[in-house]
Amino acid sequence: MDYDEAMASRAQQIKEKALDLGFDVIGIGPAREARHAGAFRRWLDEGCQGDMEWLARNPDRRIDSRQVVADALSVVVVGVSYYTGEPPADLWDDPSRGRIARYAWGRDYHDVMTPMLQTLSGFLREEAGDENVRTRFYVDTGPVLERSVAADAGVGFIGKNSLLINPSFSSYILLGEIITNVELEHDTPAPGKGASLPLPDGREGTCGSCTRCLDVCPTHAFPAPYILDSRLCISYLTIELKGSIPPTLRPLMKNWIFGCDECQTICPWVRRYAKPREGPFLRFDPTWCAPYLPELMELDEAGFRKRYRGTPVQRTKRRGLLRNVAVALGNWGDPVVRPVLQRALNDSEPLVKEHAAWALERI
Ligand code: SF4
Repeated sequence: MDYDEAMASRAQQIKEKALDLGFDVIGIGPAREARHAGAFRRWLDEGCQGDMEWLARNPDRRIDSRQVVADALSVVVVGVSYYTGEPPADLWDDPSRGRIARYAWGRDYHDVMTPMLQTLSGFLREEAGDENVRTRFYVDTGPVLERSVAADAGVGFIGKNSLLINPSFSSYILLGEIITNVELEHDTPAPGKGASLPLPDGREGTCGSCTRCLDVCPTHAFPAPYILDSRLCISYLTIELKGSIPPTLRPLMKNWIFGCDECQTICPWVRRYAKPREGPFLRFDPTWCAPYLPELMELDEAGFRKRYRGTPVQRTKRRGLLRNVAVALGNWGDPVVRPVLQRALNDSEPLVKEHAAWALERI
């Protein structure tokens, strides 16, 4: 076996192992400066990251995997589909219920994917059989420009909604990466915007002239195709923003209380290619995923922990979730919620009180 054949064979073994472990997609790309490095720097310069300061910390590391693992040669990118089918419309469209983004319909994906990546990383080290092998793996927690790296590894292309779109599973995928100094055969990178990518049925395409995600965004968070201003994005406002939600944006947030999927559900790629999957860790449970808002507004610390322990929703803490719930109650606008909002005016958290007062004024 010559050197190229050995690299190809090792890459193939890693791909088979990844699929055995339960990953739905895998691709391997080169460790190098990300194709979207310039766009990322411009995005930071505009302040689009908002309060997510960690994104602006040491951007040189984030845009080049070789700064994370010395002498890195390859980045193995894996993905897990999180689509489990559409929720019942009578619950999902009911304004008295809050909406939680699909990826958060159950266990925290970090807890699910990290052991899988750890096993895959161990397998890679064994296969390489060299004591100098270095690997670092991340599930969106490390300094990796993950969608750019995934596109370089042929896992998909970046859509105008700035998400990675895989031609078999759509954009409903969670990504993880292993950066390594092991040389592996690389996959064909996905094309840049405007170019095409082969589809499973042999046709080719990307976003083309479609602009549905840009048009549907409730808070107009896309100043241009491929650029998301996080400061306006409902996912950012409900999860990452720790303080008060700008009052001008609150009426536009409808009943989203944790994340938002609007720019995905409208996407033709999602509509055609998202495959319902019996996820090992996600399922639609109305109590978690579309809870009755007044009931949620009454949660105390113990109740919050009991309901959302081990799920991504923990990230907002009780005060962040109840802030979002107050906004959704204001948007529902039914006078029936006045008593629960009035009780929230006495909450120990100033953030909850302030948003409850806004909601009361709105009703
Ligand atoms: Fe691309 Fe249209 Fe999907 Fe947006 S909705 S990501 S423009 S295909």
